[in-house]
Amino acid sequence: MRILLVEDETSIANFLREGLEEEGFAIDFSDNGKKGLQMAQDNLDEYDVIILDWMLPGLSGIEICRSIRKENQTVPIIFLTARDTIDDVVFGLEAGANDYLRKPFAFEELLARIRVLMRGKRGENTRFSYGPIEMDVDSHKVTKDGKPIELTQKEFSLLEFLLRNKGKVSRRTRIIEKVWDVHFDYDTSVIDVYINSLRKKLDDENAISFIETIRGVGYRINDDL
Ligand code: CA
Repeated sequence: MRILLVEDETSIANFLREGLEEEGFAIDFSDNGKKGLQMAQDNLDEYDVIILDWMLPGLSGIEICRSIRKENQTVPIIFLTARDTIDDVVFGLEAGANDYLRKPFAFEELLARIRVLMRGKRGENTRFSYGPIEMDVDSHKVTKDGKPIELTQKEFSLLEFLLRNKGKVSRRTRIIEKVWDVHFDYDTSVIDVYINSLRKKLDDENAISFIETIRGVGYRINDDL
């Protein structure tokens, strides 16, 4: 799940990037308003959430928000602001933001807001069950036959992506875009490494894998399970 973060305060930006990456999000980042808007416009349909600081060099968060809303009405936008008068908050929401957080804020609060917005945007399940495997995205748990399976953040994100797209082939480029970062310049063979570790953790021994390889294209959750 991909997030665009535009924030010029290095300490906050680093803290958020690290925290969100640990939570399994792919983060695209800019510390400049103009560049941030360009990144948003280049990949508008790819972002699950956009986080904008209010005061930025180049363009303000408000201006970025207005420009984004001209092209896309649905992508969730959260403001980070040190301004805290009611007028400023109203101004931000009128510009098209869905939510805002006043600095300083607790990371857990930002995370909670992001999850609410993502759920609202997609209007979709955060629980998946597939054969003996159950996934609860909100509580970040995966079980098989009721027993907990320990997954790394990337394994979790990859499994979530595959389950959300069950019945469709997930193309390798699409997986990289959604589960890794836009500027991820590794070979897409990194996906195979994670698919293999998911198979080891989730498949029954000597059984057909629940993740089907579509040669040269990508992966699909195996419908036969
Ligand atoms: Ca700022």
